Amino acid sequence: MIRIEQLHVAYESRGSSYEVLKDINLELAAGETCAIIGPSGCGKSTLLKILAGIITSYDGKVTINRQPVMPKQQTIGFIPQNYGLLPWKNIAENIRLGIKIKNKEEDKKNQGRLQDMVQLLGLSGLEERYPGELSGGQQQRVALARAFLLQPDLLLMDEPFSALDAMTREEIQNVFLQVWRKHSVSTILVTHHVEEAVYLGHKIVILSAAPGTISKIVDNPLFGEEDIRNHQDFFELCLELRKIIKEDWSK
Ligand code: ADP
Ligand code: MG
Repeated sequence: MIRIEQLHVAYESRGSSYEVLKDINLELAAGETCAIIGPSGCGKSTLLKILAGIITSYDGKVTINRQPVMPKQQTIGFIPQNYGLLPWKNIAENIRLGIKIKNKEEDKKNQGRLQDMVQLLGLSGLEERYPGELSGGQQQRVALARAFLLQPDLLLMDEPFSALDAMTREEIQNVFLQVWRKHSVSTILVTHHVEEAVYLGHKIVILSAAPGTISKIVDNPLFGEEDIRNHQDFFELCLELRKIIKEDWSK
């Protein structure tokens, strides 16, 4: 369970302080996914950094499984926009990196799980290659493999698929859902795409322009349905969300 209560965040810059996030309250049950949509600069990445324990200066309460955010005690997977792969390590080493940092003993026991993950993500045969020798879609798969191998309490993804072309993006969204179904990891992802939010989010959170406040939380009735992208309900929900966003962001 992820819980954010009365979160207020301000940055200090050249002697003055400005508000970035205001009045954020959000709850996510274990194993749920949440998609966050918001205009540029409204504090989405800031919110993820708080959940990752990278930013610790804020007002309010943020807990993961009833504990304050403590990256040393909880396992938090974070996939940055550029995938966060190390160019000088091969694919197998990159996938193992998170777990190696977290727990060296676990790493030794995990060879079997590594192989399963490589297979599940369609990376078999690429283990010896280096990130520079992979396509964007393949690199994204490596980042997902690394994150899921960690079995995190919380997975955070900052605009994870935005650098991919439309077809690859759809394919990787399916890969994500496939792995998520198997491991049901609590996930928060930031996206600019309404379709992506409706496809991948149990919960969809719409943030207003800076300072970011929650305009609306939608419990997505379509989440997880097979082939939902081709259904009328999917188009209708996307249209409705677009309308809300358009009205909200033009205020
Ligand atoms: P988003 O991800 O929604 O585009 P960010 O969370 O990156 O927004 O940033 C929110 C606001 O805070 C922006 O105005 C940005 O310029 C500012 N900001 C981000 N990081 C810092 C920082 N370390 N110090 C000061 N201001 C920052
Ligand atoms: Mg951002």
